[in-house]
Amino acid sequence: MKLCTYQSPKGPRVGVVEDGRVFDAGFDGPMTDLIRDWPNARAALEKAVSQSDGLRLEDVQLLAPVLRPGKIFAIGLNYADHIAESKLGTPEHQVWFTKAVTSINGPYSPVQIPKISHFVDYEAELVAVIGKGGRHVPAERAAEHIFGYCVGNDVTERLWQHRTPQWSLGKSFDTHAPIGPWITTADAVTDVHNLDLRCSVNGELRQSSNTRHLVFNVFQQVEHLSQAMTLEPGDLIFTGTPGGIGAAMDPRQFLKEGDVVRCEISGLGYIENRFQKEA
Ligand code: ZN
Repeated sequence: MKLCTYQSPKGPRVGVVEDGRVFDAGFDGPMTDLIRDWPNARAALEKAVSQSDGLRLEDVQLLAPVLRPGKIFAIGLNYADHIAESKLGTPEHQVWFTKAVTSINGPYSPVQIPKISHFVDYEAELVAVIGKGGRHVPAERAAEHIFGYCVGNDVTERLWQHRTPQWSLGKSFDTHAPIGPWITTADAVTDVHNLDLRCSVNGELRQSSNTRHLVFNVFQQVEHLSQAMTLEPGDLIFTGTPGGIGAAMDPRQFLKEGDVVRCEISGLGYIENRFQKEA
């Protein structure tokens, strides 16, 4: 099942995406509440879909599927080719940073090039959405705690990322976490560790890899994070970006006003965002 958040005349609503149409889920609350209530909500949702004509997908404005996650964690240096282009070694321990929840942005919404910035870059990533919360989740049980997956762009201001040892600020600018276009529930993803992932800028292919090349796989990531903290429904995990970032090109390429970045993962859809100067 594919679940989105869309803009309705009454505000954001959760919807089901099926055959090019969006069906109101008949659920009053944000996606995080639906995920928390999923075992009960699923049947009601299926009924709501069967009783409605829905709206054409192209007539609907999709918002970030999770508008206000409790946490956004992102792993660094998690594909070999990206580690090599970063001129670093494979980390012994998983390298984690946070993105501010206020950086969340819609799948087709504009992304800001901040007033102070000249070094904005893209990072196409698989994003895991936590379902059942928990602590000390072993990797072999992690799949039970993942609600679904979507596409994300871990947009980064490289100067702010690297001028201090702590990356979080450079990763947390407003609008710098576009996600979507919807959540594909985990039961509809055959093998999360065999998904093609691509990123293009103005139609030029920049990143092309497969999630089988993750250094620490998604389940190991859930295990590691949950050793430190309680994961909760709707928490987001950006699972790493492959090689091909703009900062590693020769000469370096950063995003400019008007650039369009498209991130795509097989079976999960794509997000596409135009970059524009902060007003
Ligand atoms: Zn990243």
